[in-house]
Amino acid sequence: MAVNQHDVIIIGAGAAGLMCAISAGQRQRDVLVIDHARKPGNKIMVSGGGRCNFTNYYIEPDRYLSRNPHFCKSALSRYTQWDFIAMVDKHGLPYHEKEEGQLFSDLKSKAILDMMLKETGQAGARVQLKTEVDKIRTLPEGKAPYRYQVSTNQGDYQCQSLVIATGGLSMPTMGATGFGYQVAEQFGLNILPGKAALVPFTLQPEEKELTEPLSGLSTPAVLSCNKKSFTGSLLFTHRGISGPPVLQISSYWNPGDELQIDLLPGTDLKEILKDGRQNRPKTELKTLLSDYFPARLSKALCEQWFKNKTLSELSNADIDHIASCLHQWQPRISGTEGYRTAEVTLGGVDTDELSSKTMEAKKAPGLYFIGEVVDVSGHLGGFNFQWAWSSGWVAGEVV
Ligand SMILES: Cc1cc2nc3c(=O)[nH]c(=O)nc-3n(C[C@H](O)[C@H](O)[C@H](O)COP(=O)(O)OP(=O)(O)OC[C@H]3O[C@@H](n4cnc5c(N)ncnc54)[C@H](O)[C@@H]3O)c2cc1C
Repeated sequence: MAVNQHDVIIIGAGAAGLMCAISAGQRQRDVLVIDHARKPGNKIMVSGGGRCNFTNYYIEPDRYLSRNPHFCKSALSRYTQWDFIAMVDKHGLPYHEKEEGQLFSDLKSKAILDMMLKETGQAGARVQLKTEVDKIRTLPEGKAPYRYQVSTNQGDYQCQSLVIATGGLSMPTMGATGFGYQVAEQFGLNILPGKAALVPFTLQPEEKELTEPLSGLSTPAVLSCNKKSFTGSLLFTHRGISGPPVLQISSYWNPGDELQIDLLPGTDLKEILKDGRQNRPKTELKTLLSDYFPARLSKALCEQWFKNKTLSELSNADIDHIASCLHQWQPRISGTEGYRTAEVTLGGVDTDELSSKTMEAKKAPGLYFIGEVVDVSGHLGGFNFQWAWSSGWVAGEVV
């Protein structure tokens, strides 16, 4: 079979791979993007609840987790949120800020994917789907300038630069594989252990007595773990808890760690209960709590956690107990929902192995790792796509 030769082969037609194809293609490089999936950009399609949260106004390095917190700075400063917003504006796509700088498409996520594919095509790069990679090998010096051979079910391909953009392990149903880690291993690169992140928690059966009947209900909360805190709307699910602050804190939680939840942030329940006992003694606890919680939650709390009494019947010890349960709830966690529903994978290719300017592997010239496969993971809110865009772009500038 004839061998196809390209300047650049990118494995993975997701956010990072497409952006790399655009930037390399715009430099007149001959680029082929290959992906085993039937469609490109599956995660872009499902992102942001169908409205792709494509970046954030407030991209800062401290919104990323990585063993080397400085690594992400170079790429993020060279292809910024403003660069991506300029592309969205150029295509006339409408968007809005939801909260805390999170930019969502007004149109379905497909509009962002279509924009990426249009740019890819205009840059002259080609996307080839349903292509399974069997083997990658380094070519002997005599084949220069071609350095790598990629053997696939569609034939053999040689390239000068090989870019691995196959993402992390989250959502295997969407085409996620550990392929990128295998390639890193093949070339002797260190890989930091992975973990599902931005993921809901599952709770122990005794906690589920409270949470299961509340499934679908949300309430404001502050979640704290390992000196990190996130505020937002906590969602009860039939298996545990979810919602933005839960997903955020999951990145900082490890099995066995204590999670603390303030279900009444910004209030002093002890004072409220003492005041109620004095000034409205005949009021039931359930009624007072429903001033602060949805009625279904206050009813469930008075059935599962506390005995419903009139406020006059509450002792000081009762008040201390109720206040500490609601300000410092420490749910017994059984685990997370895992890669099945996680938005990202923490860990990955050790950043010590890569150049932060180009994303090239120090041990393997011409081999690049971009996007989620690298040990850089963002907070919820558009930070992960921005990392994919930025790391993809900077690699595309040099491949
Ligand atoms: C449900 C969900 C919603 C999300 N919403 C947001 C959001 O709104 N905002 C945000 O910033 N982030 C969001 N994220 C995270 C974001 O999608 C990822 O961080 C981002 O897609 C990573 O980009 P990537 O290009 O590195 O990997 P991916 O987008 O995962 O792309 C990897 C590509 O590689 C291909 N591939 C994998 N293995 C192989 C193989 N062996 N051979 C060939 N091809 C292969 C895959 O098919 C895929 O096309 C969300 C994630 C999920 C799961």
